[in-house]
Amino acid sequence: MPKIVSKYVLCPKCGQQTSTEIMISGNTEDDAGLKNTVFSESIFRWKCKKCGFSSKYQHPFLYNDIANKFMVYYIPHVERVKVVDTKLEAEFSELKDIKKRVVPDINAMKEKIIVFEKGINDFALELTKLAVSEIVAKETGHTVYYGYFTDMSEEDNTISFQFFVGGDKRSYIQSARLEVYRHSLDMVKKKFPDAEKQQGFLNIGRQWAKNALDAYKGS
Ligand SMILES: [Zn+2]
Repeated sequence: MPKIVSKYVLCPKCGQQTSTEIMISGNTEDDAGLKNTVFSESIFRWKCKKCGFSSKYQHPFLYNDIANKFMVYYIPHVERVKVVDTKLEAEFSELKDIKKRVVPDINAMKEKIIVFEKGINDFALELTKLAVSEIVAKETGHTVYYGYFTDMSEEDNTISFQFFVGGDKRSYIQSARLEVYRHSLDMVKKKFPDAEKQQGFLNIGRQWAKNALDAYKGS
């Protein structure tokens, strides 16, 4: 069942405080349209009941896809390497081999959903993305701010990402050969065989990839 809570939100336009229903979790089994509401970001839209003003309202949200065995917990701007929520995890304790992730932004949540639906290993994906982002930084001479997975093709033997580079954060698509991903996958299996067995929701993004690479180089 989708979990809905009531919250009082102060309208930045009219200054009135009104109660708002917020969806804090949902699962794809009960709600076939859940993925669409995440991708359209409609669950993060808020509308003032008094004046009709509408804006983005970022709040934590837990996305459950039991069929594909993953949970993605969006906590705005989370920086922790993992989040342990014993109460939440007790609810799902009977489920084995569930990938649990925590993400700091909505785009990262969308990326995890796509990646897990495709059966891609996100540890290896982040290592690949980091390697490809370094190529992009070298080629463009600009800072690469962030990037997201866009496509993987066995046929073309490529994995592609969209990066945002330079001061104006313009979009830059870069592909790499699938070998880069497969090599990363080997490294993950060798170096982090128990990564998935930890308790808690893991924050597997750029920072994780940097730390993992440093640890790998150092050993
Ligand atoms: Zn208002």
